[in-house]
Amino acid sequence: MLTTLISLGDGRSLLVDPPLFPDEARAIQDFADGKGLRIEWLLVTHAHGDHACGMAYFPEASVIAHEGFWTFWKAIELQDRRFFSQVLPGIELPILRHPNFLVGDRMSISFARDLIVRHVPGHSPDGLMVELPEEGLWIAGDTVIPLPLVSSGSIGELLHTLRGLLGRWRGESIIPGHGKVLSGEEARKAMEDNINYLVSLREAVAEAIVRGKGRDEILRIPLADFGIPGATMAGLAAWIHRENLKRAYEELSGGA
Ligand SMILES: [Zn+2]
Repeated sequence: MLTTLISLGDGRSLLVDPPLFPDEARAIQDFADGKGLRIEWLLVTHAHGDHACGMAYFPEASVIAHEGFWTFWKAIELQDRRFFSQVLPGIELPILRHPNFLVGDRMSISFARDLIVRHVPGHSPDGLMVELPEEGLWIAGDTVIPLPLVSSGSIGELLHTLRGLLGRWRGESIIPGHGKVLSGEEARKAMEDNINYLVSLREAVAEAIVRGKGRDEILRIPLADFGIPGATMAGLAAWIHRENLKRAYEELSGGA
């Protein structure tokens, strides 16, 4: 996953998505120290363990998150802890603390540079992204990743968010929650590919329901049908796709 340290001038800085592992947090702290930066604020793009739990390694920093962050975290905490204990045996997620500053739809932060924080629901209900307008940078959290994941979000909301981003994209580079930094055409195409996958996913599941196929059969619709290589997201693509099929089935069958 990607973590971003933003200098705000006068030795202050804001860290977007503190890392999950203590050695990574130590390395970021050392990097900030080397640059003469105090990490005064953490901005957590959403309440998933890999983006939020690293706050434990920066106990002095004030935490900024969406106003829905805490409720969402409490709803998924057990499930998220179980997931990470399976994929990262031996790692126990640290305890989260309640954020200090809550963002609604939009917030501006102005020091030596300007930041705009926006609510971008879809991957999760509490998604935030950070824009640096002068630098042409969008720090997107998991709103833009190589293969969208909507297991604890909403396909319709993510499509609405992504279409909105694509519509006002003017060449900004995107720092996704996972993968690599995307610049120029690559950034535009990543958003377009995410949208196309979600639209095709919904169509495929809707069609299967109309044809009377059952849930188990629908959950076997292969990722290859969507032209996405299985090696995407460090081999997690097949798991992500199955989670998305479950979400699509729930949304389209009325939760049956
Ligand atoms: Zn996430």
